[in-house]
Amino acid sequence: MNLPKTDQKRLIIIGGGFAGVSLAKKLKDLDMQIVLIDKHNYHTFQPLLYQVSTSGLEPDSIAYPIRKVLKRLNNFHFRLAEVSKIEPTLQKVITNIGELDYNYLVIATGTKTNFYGNKELESNAMPMKNVPQALNIRSLMLQNFEKADDSESLEERKALLNFCIVGGGPTGVELSGALAELKNNVFPKDYKHLNIDEMEIHLFEGTGRVLPPMSEHASKKATQFLKELGVQIHLETLVSHYDGETVTLNDGTTMKCKNLVWAAGVTGASLPGLDGKVLVDKLNRFKVDRFNRVEGYPNIFAIGDIAYMETEEYKRGHPQVAQPAIQQGEHLAENLFRLLKGEDLKPFSYNDKGTMATVGRNKAVVDLNKMKFSGFLAWFVWMFVHLMALVGFRNRVVVFFNWAYNYINYDKAARLIVRPFHSKK
Ligand SMILES: Cc1cc2nc3c(=O)[nH]c(=O)nc-3n(C[C@H](O)[C@H](O)[C@H](O)COP(=O)(O)OP(=O)(O)OC[C@H]3O[C@@H](n4cnc5c(N)ncnc54)[C@H](O)[C@@H]3O)c2cc1C
Repeated sequence: MNLPKTDQKRLIIIGGGFAGVSLAKKLKDLDMQIVLIDKHNYHTFQPLLYQVSTSGLEPDSIAYPIRKVLKRLNNFHFRLAEVSKIEPTLQKVITNIGELDYNYLVIATGTKTNFYGNKELESNAMPMKNVPQALNIRSLMLQNFEKADDSESLEERKALLNFCIVGGGPTGVELSGALAELKNNVFPKDYKHLNIDEMEIHLFEGTGRVLPPMSEHASKKATQFLKELGVQIHLETLVSHYDGETVTLNDGTTMKCKNLVWAAGVTGASLPGLDGKVLVDKLNRFKVDRFNRVEGYPNIFAIGDIAYMETEEYKRGHPQVAQPAIQQGEHLAENLFRLLKGEDLKPFSYNDKGTMATVGRNKAVVDLNKMKFSGFLAWFVWMFVHLMALVGFRNRVVVFFNWAYNYINYDKAARLIVRPFHSKK
């Protein structure tokens, strides 16, 4: 790779997500050459991907150029590349555009969709982990509506208008709610000749309640909100097969469905090259100590979703959500300064600020340490927190105006098939 020659040591950060960006932003005065590598040239605000999938927001309001985020750092270099391997003995990373040596390495690669080894599901279900995938879902949904509007067959229309969301965590709940709002407020005006009751939204969850990581209160309220919106919830139900047309459940029931979104889990986006012992089985997360150092590798760190740190309070690692990633990024930055000064590193402690999920207009649930609430206030808090967390002032303004417009007009304006989706069936 072509980088300026320097006497400085080199720090490579792999991944410009929440963890990588919050780390890099704090390294302005670090006496090292910093190279951030990502396979996308933008940072993605994943919590709002579902709004891109459901035409509520344009992708450029939730994505932000990594070079722009870090423009004030003089010692910073960005490379658009995919890392395929780490070579710890040679202290270098291998990418699709070349190799690069490091003195210190930070792995912040996050997670990828987990299909639990089911190849059929992997080829036919729609994942929602990045912007192109969210746009695929949007195109597929709108294409299927166009086809349904032109179809004489009730059976075909029902399959085209049937939405199956697999996974009743925050992503599945938020996506189901947003689809229900499209059904209730938007599509009846666009497709006046379609019987909108032919559109069904099914949410499948393997455990006994939706939002399993949240409180019982949040689950109960979210269930109530989803039912009010017309979402059909199937608890203790697993999807075992999907060939692109027919969904098969674990009890053998089948249903026709042309839109199946897989939101049933993630696994670490780990990289090969390190000793297999540092990878936690099934989770694919790198085991780190309290300083985010990968076990056995003093100059390699892992932060965010990919890092597995056991503490007294978090015996099975931190939750794979944005806050631990942001906090670990910022904390590691402080530790890197300490490291260069020869000072002792400080252990990381997670400050849990609470969790929340939204179901739709005026409908959300919030779990704080001592308080749990739902409804309009929760929805308002959810909007405020997400607006403030978005990267970039422009994106905050754009999202705010979109939400205000959608709220006043009961509309979702980005109903565009810009790049058609070609399904395998
Ligand atoms: C649909 C969805 C909704 C979510 N909603 C919420 C929510 O409401 N609240 C919440 O707190 N959390 C939410 N999360 C989880 C949250 O987004 C993650 O916990 C957070 O993004 C983790 O940050 P990270 O930096 O570890 O990883 P990421 O943000 O995933 O960043 C990883 C980066 O690494 C890059 N990368 C990966 N592999 C390579 C490679 N080999 N080479 C180069 N680059 C690579 C990727 O392109 C990416 O930019 C959601 C996640 C999803 C998918």
